[in-house]
Amino acid sequence: MLSWRFRYIFAGTARTKTLLRGLTAQHYYWSVGVAPQTVRGITTRWIEWRARRRTDPAERLQFLQSRLKRKRRRVRAPVPAITLGLALAGAALLRPWSRSSEVPRVESPRLISTQISTKSAPAAPPHVWLVENAERYDLYSNGLRVENQYLASTAPRKYLAFARARLDQAAGAWRSEPAGIVFHTTESHIAPFEEDQNRTLRRAGEGLLEYVSRRRSYHFVIDRFGRVFRIVRETDYANHAGNSIWADDTSIYLNLNQSFFGVAFEAQSNPDGDQMPANSAQIHAGRILVEMLRSRYAIPASNCVAHAQVSVNPGNGRVGYHTDWAARLPFGELGLGDNYLCPLPSVTLFGFQPDGSLAEAGDAPLGQGWQSALEQVRAEAARRELPVERYRQALQKRYRYDLAAQRTHGVPEDSHGSDR
Ligand SMILES: [Zn+2]
Repeated sequence: MLSWRFRYIFAGTARTKTLLRGLTAQHYYWSVGVAPQTVRGITTRWIEWRARRRTDPAERLQFLQSRLKRKRRRVRAPVPAITLGLALAGAALLRPWSRSSEVPRVESPRLISTQISTKSAPAAPPHVWLVENAERYDLYSNGLRVENQYLASTAPRKYLAFARARLDQAAGAWRSEPAGIVFHTTESHIAPFEEDQNRTLRRAGEGLLEYVSRRRSYHFVIDRFGRVFRIVRETDYANHAGNSIWADDTSIYLNLNQSFFGVAFEAQSNPDGDQMPANSAQIHAGRILVEMLRSRYAIPASNCVAHAQVSVNPGNGRVGYHTDWAARLPFGELGLGDNYLCPLPSVTLFGFQPDGSLAEAGDAPLGQGWQSALEQVRAEAARRELPVERYRQALQKRYRYDLAAQRTHGVPEDSHGSDR
């Protein structure tokens, strides 16, 4: 009898077609940023034309896989190659799938890294210290000035960080130190950034700051003039991330209001246009704010991410419920590596699926993150000789189980992300 894996591949059904479509999309992905646009287009079309000439689905799949491997070797794309390598290495070391278990015994693919390649990893942030602590503002050694006139409190930060190696046991440790940063856009009214708009710009900014302070929406807001306002105390949680997931090499974080800082740019996300949502004053302020937070709280660069990367909708099992900074977050200018390339932990660990609009944006930065995450899920399902959908459902079950464990442990439930 054919194993699940071979039944899956040779079925010649819609599933096979979906897989083939996925591989075709992968070809686009591997070619991004490697060859000039024209050459890339011709190469991809040539491969696809040759693939289409193979009428047998299995033969076509084999051809595409061989081209995929060859292309990976040639471009030496460090992130996906390393990711897949780790995935396979991790897969070889993990115990087989347990079919009889009642709770979701899906072991953590712990050697699958969410980290980006060390080659592109940014340098450690410079040491930043507090220079002056006045009533209305704080001044830091890297030039950062944080305004305190809208400061509010919630309650001291406390959260359960799940141990990645023992996720199936919902094991974790209580922490009160921030683990990362989620970047937001406020999605508030944005007036043209012009001199004769000063009055409107200032009024809109003040209205926004009063609003987010009342709602305890973020830890920091960077206004249109690049001023940094502290909204919620650094020791407290803020209502910024809603249902959300992120992970690093050792820990998994569910619902990041407690575990991550929320940093919002007074801006509107503009995923379809080509304009950067934040202006250069805001980006500069963002950079020195990130430096300060990373220096003071030892936050790894890979835990500094866009809201769209972490946001999930448990109701429909999709990622990207909130879509702010789904594209164009200037990671490099903020002193960070390109975290858009990180395989989304919500997909690899908990079986979430890309949302429709994001799924179509295969070439978009965030699309690359979920593409490589989906590839990991496929590889892991194949290793366990399970149909992808069944494996994904088991991961979703584990998510609900861990979420319930977190609730049982008493982590306060908070509102959804509060971008306007
Ligand atoms: Zn947001």
